[in-house]
Amino acid sequence: MRHIAILGSTGSIGTQALDVIRWHPDEYTAEVLCAGSNSDLLIKQALEFKPNAVVIADEKKYSIVRDALANESVKVFAGMQAIVETMEMESIDMVLAAIVGFAGLRPTLRAIESGKPIALANKETMVVAGSIVTNAAAQFHTPILPVDSEHSAIFQCLVGELSPVEKILLTASGGPFYGHQRDSLLNVKLDDALKHPNWSMGRKVTIDSATLMNKGLEVIEARWLFDVPATHIEAVIHPQSVVHSMVQFADGSVKAQLGIPSMKTPIQYAFSFPNRIESPLPRLDFANYPQLTFGKPDTDTFRCLALAYEAIARGGNMPCIMNAANEVAVQRFIEGSIRFLDIADFVEREMQTATFIANPSLDDLFETDRLVRKSNQ
Ligand code: NDP
Repeated sequence: MRHIAILGSTGSIGTQALDVIRWHPDEYTAEVLCAGSNSDLLIKQALEFKPNAVVIADEKKYSIVRDALANESVKVFAGMQAIVETMEMESIDMVLAAIVGFAGLRPTLRAIESGKPIALANKETMVVAGSIVTNAAAQFHTPILPVDSEHSAIFQCLVGELSPVEKILLTASGGPFYGHQRDSLLNVKLDDALKHPNWSMGRKVTIDSATLMNKGLEVIEARWLFDVPATHIEAVIHPQSVVHSMVQFADGSVKAQLGIPSMKTPIQYAFSFPNRIESPLPRLDFANYPQLTFGKPDTDTFRCLALAYEAIARGGNMPCIMNAANEVAVQRFIEGSIRFLDIADFVEREMQTATFIANPSLDDLFETDRLVRKSNQ
């Protein structure tokens, strides 16, 4: 039995992970559930899964969760510091890092330092602090298993390979505005940006998919997860989302991993690695996909992808600056105070004006993130 702590249990990835646990009650159990502020869902999950502990980041919700679980033998904590400290619990065998955004960095890092294998969905952790996170994983011998479907695909393509990678081909659906030019994106509505053609995800990652920032974040994530320079990582538009990503080797061979678009498959693979276990999901029927198409991303229209390549090329705290600016800009777009095309302008401006640090410490990264947010309050 593997005892899993879920950071972000109330989110899109977190709830799908609980579905995987429901499928395999003899293999997995939810040991700890952590949420941001959705106390109602956290309580429901705790009543069903009876974890050892639950933590709600929003301290104002503590008494609601505590009172609702008063008759259960579930420990209840509140606050980010409690989430971070919970990661040290001996009974945890694996941590699913599925908090959205920079907020996921501290608990994920503590879990790595505690030697808990990580199933990593929270790509922003790698984007912001890739070198610090991978060094910590090496120092504490902590495996990091990708959950992002593209990175899970790459990981699967690399199983059994000893030769170096020539190129990573990271597929991208292109999002809801694939094929659009700038003019037609001037008055994009939030609802349109939230209509992803193939995936149902949290709001932030859905907007990131529409701007192609998601692909940019994934390029940086792949750079650190697989130790391949970003210049050897290419985004390929593949609207059907059936080929989850590919790896090219020195002899020109390309390996791909395919499947129906469902995050439950990479979540389960991270849980079950190195084994594969039964999944009730429908199988890929090629008859449903008479055409699988591939193309180049339009980085003139979707500039966030180009900005992400620039950020990783400049290095230091630049990916952290880019990530913080993007989180602020996406939130503003969701609130309606900026337009869709302003997101890239906003990120670019911050990358030009925020203070660059070539070799940032972890404290520098926290300060960078804080300053970018503060200067835009
Ligand atoms: P959601 O927005 O659906 O869920 C986010 C989760 O994080 C929720 O449980 C939320 O809690 C919690 N949370 C938010 N802020 C905080 C905080 N400050 N402290 C503690 N918990 C917090 O996001 P997704 O599930 O879509 O995405 C999660 C991560 O996985 C992201 O990094 C995303 O890029 C990545 N990812 C997601 C995919 C998907 O299909 N959804 C695919 C690949 C990667 P609450 O709701 O209670 O406030």
